[in-house]
Amino acid sequence: MSARVLVVDDVMPNVKLLAAKLTREYFDVITAYNGQQALELVKKESPDIVLLDVMMPGMDGFEVCQRIRSDPMTMHIPVVMVTALSDISDRVRGLEAGADDFLTKPVNDIALFARVRSLVRLKMMMDEWRLRESTSGHFGMLNNGISLLSESTDEARVLVLEDSPLDLDKITETLKRDGSVVYSATTVGDALERALTNDFELVIVSLTLLNEDGLRLCSQLRSHERTRQVPILLMIDEGDMNRVAKGLELGANDYVIKPIDRNELQARVRTQIRRKRYQDRLRANYEQSLSLALTDSLTGVFNRRYVSAHLPRLLDRAADSNKPVSILMFDIDHFKRVNDTFGHDIGDEVLKEVAERASRNLRNFDLVARLGGEEFVVIMPDTDGESALMVAERLRNRIGDTVFRISAPVGEIVVTVSVGVAVGGRVGDTVETLIKRSDEALYEAKRSGRNRVVADKRDIPLSVLQSLQEQQQAIPRAPDGAVAGSS
Ligand code: GH3
Ligand code: MG
Ligand code: MG
Repeated sequence: MSARVLVVDDVMPNVKLLAAKLTREYFDVITAYNGQQALELVKKESPDIVLLDVMMPGMDGFEVCQRIRSDPMTMHIPVVMVTALSDISDRVRGLEAGADDFLTKPVNDIALFARVRSLVRLKMMMDEWRLRESTSGHFGMLNNGISLLSESTDEARVLVLEDSPLDLDKITETLKRDGSVVYSATTVGDALERALTNDFELVIVSLTLLNEDGLRLCSQLRSHERTRQVPILLMIDEGDMNRVAKGLELGANDYVIKPIDRNELQARVRTQIRRKRYQDRLRANYEQSLSLALTDSLTGVFNRRYVSAHLPRLLDRAADSNKPVSILMFDIDHFKRVNDTFGHDIGDEVLKEVAERASRNLRNFDLVARLGGEEFVVIMPDTDGESALMVAERLRNRIGDTVFRISAPVGEIVVTVSVGVAVGGRVGDTVETLIKRSDEALYEAKRSGRNRVVADKRDIPLSVLQSLQEQQQAIPRAPDGAVAGSS
């Protein structure tokens, strides 16, 4: 993970010191000596994180941070305030003003690397979501009104592992005052059980338990699926930085030092809750945009984009395992007349019903997609030509044999489809050849009277083809002329 860090400080030796430490850990470091220069570099170099001095002549760190936050192009870049201020309320003010974290000078190495790494990790994950959203064609949903800072921290569900009644009271009281819902445990076992049966948004772990090691809870939380993503905040004694380092290695996200400062605890808890909620929201957004991008909004079945992504993988797998994949291409007969006679809305009703009947007709592994217009495809993994023909014939029946109810005065109409069948899965079969073969079969079905099934000759036994032909000859042609009502 070679992340680019921008170090900003008006004092040259401070910059050099931080730059040297970070370079030694293989970070790619760029530097700025005042606020203006920092803002230019943020724009030009898009760093993965900014370490920002607070006290600088001209534009101070708070202002630089605010400007980074207010520019949509840079608002997602994490900012860590580096401050010499002894007044803790100023540090907290930094967090609340939009910084993601703070460090105090002289900068402790463990704290530096812990915070830089965890923020860089977070940013990379968010960059990944952004990228995926942009490929799925729904870029922008992300930036519309969602930002880390606007994330609420109300009613945060927090679990605290602490066996000192005094400390527990203080923590609970502080968090409740901030609107959190607090649960507590006094042993590792109890805490783990609670964490595995509840959806906590933060677990606070004391590393000063009398008879147990809180780090055990950290490793347990990270090893269970349900709690793998839950943020962990450690509480330690001053001077116990080695155990903090161990905890951060195990996957803890942050720490506070005892005796606990209420404001700092509050700020760090809020930061963790915000990040968690923001990430959850990004993920949910992504999943939603994915389903939007891959399904057809009118009928709810998959769309052409999904078929293009999915069918090649199916064909590869089929060729590897030497199993056939069958596809049915089907198209509504004389659909234009439905639109012309009853209007586009009724046409849409028919499309929906066709998609629904096709979906109901299938097995779990089969999938229906609308390729566009009134043309659909059914993809059936692990299915040979003979079975595919049976499914195709059943599909034709389910659509053609039962009238469609429509919300036009006639009440109901007959709708039929023509179906083309092709079998693929041999080495060398591509999506294009398979689609083309089923398309040719479909064309043949249209040409020979509509409301019928025609199969591509390859890979289907002659006897099967013959019985198909006999069966299909008995089917009446799709009505020509006006749309057939059932009455
Ligand atoms: P054929 O039996 O040869 O398939 O004749 P057809 O009339 O079904 O085929 P054609 O391709 O001539 O017409 C398809 C019609 O489908 C034309 C178009 O207006 C209509 N159509 C395409 N997409 C939609 C849609 O989303 N909703 C509605 N209501 N109609 C659509
Ligand atoms: Mg048609
Ligand atoms: Mg058509």
